[in-house]
Amino acid sequence: MKNKLFFLLFILSSCSMRAQITDPVATEVWSPEPRVVTPGAGTAVPSDAIVLFDGSNLNEWMSVQDSSAARWNVEGGAMTVNTDAGDIMTKRVFGDCQLHVEFSEPEVVVGEGQNRGNSGIFLQNRYEVQVLDCYQNRTYSNGQTASIYKQSIPLVNACRPPGQWQYYDIIYTAPRFNTDGIKVRPGFVTVLHNGVLVQNHTEIKGTTEYIGLPQNKAHGKGAIKLQDHDCLVKYRNIWIREL
Ligand code: MG
Repeated sequence: MKNKLFFLLFILSSCSMRAQITDPVATEVWSPEPRVVTPGAGTAVPSDAIVLFDGSNLNEWMSVQDSSAARWNVEGGAMTVNTDAGDIMTKRVFGDCQLHVEFSEPEVVVGEGQNRGNSGIFLQNRYEVQVLDCYQNRTYSNGQTASIYKQSIPLVNACRPPGQWQYYDIIYTAPRFNTDGIKVRPGFVTVLHNGVLVQNHTEIKGTTEYIGLPQNKAHGKGAIKLQDHDCLVKYRNIWIREL
């Protein structure tokens, strides 16, 4: 009897709660108001982005090897990997971010598999979004273009032919570590390749190793690193929005 009474009261109260809201304005939320960001035309730089490369110089970049000035070749509004200079990385460090990168694979096709137009974009200097020429070029699926290297196969192959400009839009949430250095929340990454979704909120399992399993050492913010894999990959129009 008592239970029935409670049940009746519950039904009545939930009905009356629903009945209370009759005005559509009551469920409108006006605060906080998102700030205004002026988007760029097409893939141009939004008003609140940090420009990492605008085609003119490598002032935002340095050598990974010895932190000296980056020595990749800047010409015609693009930078090209200098195979004598090694990886380069940003001087600034980042955590959660939205990153836009345009790249072009060598028009003169050399090599096959992992040796054709290989480079890479490393988030926080650790987690590689693979750059590779997989236009009619087969390699292992978890190492092809737009893979999270050796961790996550891209949903589709959205490669353009070599010599054409392509782009990644990357949305990245960094992993979180507690004060003991234990990972308490994994990192996640979403990638659009030429506007096509290829990684959809993909969990990052740890560092993207060539040999062996992902590692999970605690870290703070990190640089964006571009890989010199002995292929003459070009980059342009690189910008980042900190989230
Ligand atoms: Mg690579």
